[in-house]
Amino acid sequence: MARRALFALLVIAPTLSAQAAAKSPPPAVQSTSRTSKGIGYAGIDSVQLLIDLAAISADSMDGRRTGSAGNIRARAYILRQFLAASLSPFSQRFTFSFTVARQGGTTTATNLVGYHEGTKHPDRYIVLSAHYDHLGNKNGVIYNGADDNASGTAGVLAIARWLKEHPPENSVIIAMFDGEEQGLLGSKEFLTHSPVPLDKIVANVNLDMVGRNANGVLWAAGATPWTVMRPLLEGLIPTAPVTLKLGHDSGTGQENWTQQSDQGPFHTARIPWVYFGVEDHPDYHQPSDKFAKIEPGFFVRSVRTIAEFVHRLDQGLEPVVAAKTRSPAR
Ligand SMILES: [Zn+2]
Repeated sequence: MARRALFALLVIAPTLSAQAAAKSPPPAVQSTSRTSKGIGYAGIDSVQLLIDLAAISADSMDGRRTGSAGNIRARAYILRQFLAASLSPFSQRFTFSFTVARQGGTTTATNLVGYHEGTKHPDRYIVLSAHYDHLGNKNGVIYNGADDNASGTAGVLAIARWLKEHPPENSVIIAMFDGEEQGLLGSKEFLTHSPVPLDKIVANVNLDMVGRNANGVLWAAGATPWTVMRPLLEGLIPTAPVTLKLGHDSGTGQENWTQQSDQGPFHTARIPWVYFGVEDHPDYHQPSDKFAKIEPGFFVRSVRTIAEFVHRLDQGLEPVVAAKTRSPAR
């Protein structure tokens, strides 16, 4: 997340947090299937998901700052997962580097991009994205960025693996953006030099901070500017294993998240999007955003919810294609 300021930093007292945990039994995590179709919320391997989050937020990644050795190590890990998910490359490569300004000079940032080809509509693309960079190491203090955004990165990798076993009807691009924390640089670069024509990109689903929330709430933004997404999202609410809320996508100020993560440049390019994430927590952009603070149950339930959304979006893409063609939110 690249919010410019902490606007409404929620201070959750430990007692409240404990109460919330005590009175919110997670019924669906054990439930193998709540729906007869789709992922059924059980198709995501929770063990590998947590392994990926732990690896990407490990101290050895040194906070994954753009241009750093730790960022390159994270990239190497993610690329191994691209291969495990049998992603196809564009132009025979997964890495797309670009130059970014930095105080006193420039550095190189690198997006990681691959795709699963659609079985029915290979020329229509859903971009499933997360940023893997974070704030790095400041004066010897590592900013691990476990929630921001090792959680979203691991979530996208898990969905990419699921899609290997269950090929989508439309092509799904897996995009791991660099440079988000410095101003959404990776997503802007992706849209400026897209591997496919922009008019073939039907939708973006972006994950940024999906690993913890004291109240078990996951937000989905995007349905206000892109109303075509609303029925798809509302249809998830009754069976989603998290409390899914719609909002944070209208008005002025910090509570509108439209331009606060990598969905922003897609919105600007008039591509429909949905962003999944949680509200800020006290560890947001702090060295304390560590793996130990992740809530594994919530994290797994979040990713399962998002995976089901991606599946339903793929199966129900026609109205989104029409909405995009018809006309665009501003
Ligand atoms: Zn951030």
